[in-house]
Amino acid sequence: MVDGATVTNPLRDALRAGRFCYVVELVASGLTREARLLEVASRLAALPDVVAGSITSYAGGALGHDPIRVGTAARARGLAPNIHLTCVGQDRQGLRKTLEDLHALGLENVFALTGDYPKADDPRQPVPAFDLDSVHLVRLIDEMRQAGARFHVAVAVSPFKYVEADAVWQYVKLEKKIAAGADLAITQVGWDAEKFRELKAYLDERGLRTPLLGNVYVLGPKTAERMAAGSPPGCWVSPELLEAVRRESGAPDGGRRARLERAARTVAVLRGLGYAGAYLGGTHDAEQIAWIIRRAGELLPRWEELAGELAFGLPGGFYLYRHATPAAPAGVAATRPPGMRLPRLLDLLGRLFPVTRDTGLRRLLRRVLAWVDRRPRLAAGLERVELAVKRPLFGCQACGNCVLGHLEYVCPETCPKRMRNGPCGGTRLGRCEVVDRPCIWVGVYERAKQAGRVRALTTYVPPPDRTLAGTSSWINFLLDKDSRPRSERG
Ligand code: SF4
Repeated sequence: MVDGATVTNPLRDALRAGRFCYVVELVASGLTREARLLEVASRLAALPDVVAGSITSYAGGALGHDPIRVGTAARARGLAPNIHLTCVGQDRQGLRKTLEDLHALGLENVFALTGDYPKADDPRQPVPAFDLDSVHLVRLIDEMRQAGARFHVAVAVSPFKYVEADAVWQYVKLEKKIAAGADLAITQVGWDAEKFRELKAYLDERGLRTPLLGNVYVLGPKTAERMAAGSPPGCWVSPELLEAVRRESGAPDGGRRARLERAARTVAVLRGLGYAGAYLGGTHDAEQIAWIIRRAGELLPRWEELAGELAFGLPGGFYLYRHATPAAPAGVAATRPPGMRLPRLLDLLGRLFPVTRDTGLRRLLRRVLAWVDRRPRLAAGLERVELAVKRPLFGCQACGNCVLGHLEYVCPETCPKRMRNGPCGGTRLGRCEVVDRPCIWVGVYERAKQAGRVRALTTYVPPPDRTLAGTSSWINFLLDKDSRPRSERG
């Protein structure tokens, strides 16, 4: 039981005790009556294995009920809330304020997400600010935690990525989130035991003990159709799974029993693989949840056999621990590797004219640019020259905090969500969730791989100082005004 005055947190306690636990997603969309959600919360609170209700915010890119209000009311009914907090429509000050509100209300569990891009047809949509990315958000929460606020931070990861760049980025980004202070990782939606295993093995290999919750979705035919078409972004339903769900829905019960059984089997597999718990979605029915929990217990002895059946990936898709992977999985157009000539030339120039460490050249340039900086018209002129060079080459947006050198000369401001630490979970077979083109982070990965610098992608890239937008990043860099990875600050 949780109330505002105590610090009991069943989610944290279960994870600490190593007790397999369940978190149930409560979709606080505008379509669900809030009173109905709270009835559900009361019922879930009566299930001992359910340690939290995860209250969505802006799910699928559309506004819903205020997750803080719903979470507070759920807690009053005995269900610990896990509040989704996204970077959509709030800048860092707004996010800090929201976190202060959560802290003031004693709401400890936060699910820190980048968030889906707002749907264009939602007239109430907030400005898609994306000032911070999810790694920045975890850092922000951790800073507040260092200052005494009590937070337990969950983050998302999707192992269900079937091209190499997408898959490796997900894991690299999870490492960044863990380094930033994440306490728990929750997977995206997918039905592929080998991918669940891959994620666990990746963390184990690196000695990372962060607990994992596997997403277990009770999948009906309508949602299966939508997810198979890529909505919500990042969910993966293979054509074979879609076909199976369609077939099942022809049964007299409309496929209800089959989908609950699939959910229970997935939970059994997760338990067998050593996951810390399951994140149940797709149903708000407490009886169904109780049935899945009970049935998963019965199925546990058969988990290895069931894992073999949970194989709705992508034929020929990328699997990290398989030895041979085809250049492009079935149905995916092979993309041309990004050009390496420019990055190599810039690397060479960087070696010939070193300015990222304390050299004579750097000191000279500092003096010159400090002089330019004191003359606003001259500084503005230099900014225009910089933009004239960098816009055609990199799509520069004049953010004033250049991190091209850390991102294989790909400008992060050309990502529609302006992320700086890797792609969001919405990529699909290497393509952007927002615009119909390859994800820019695929290019970053491919270049890093060719240059043998994949591990360098784990470097934390801080949020830009947005007050520097429209100023020369060359001046900002040399006068140490900008925001960039620490390694260059000497
Ligand atoms: S990171 Fe900023 S300064 Fe550098 S190319 Fe992109 S927008 Fe321009």
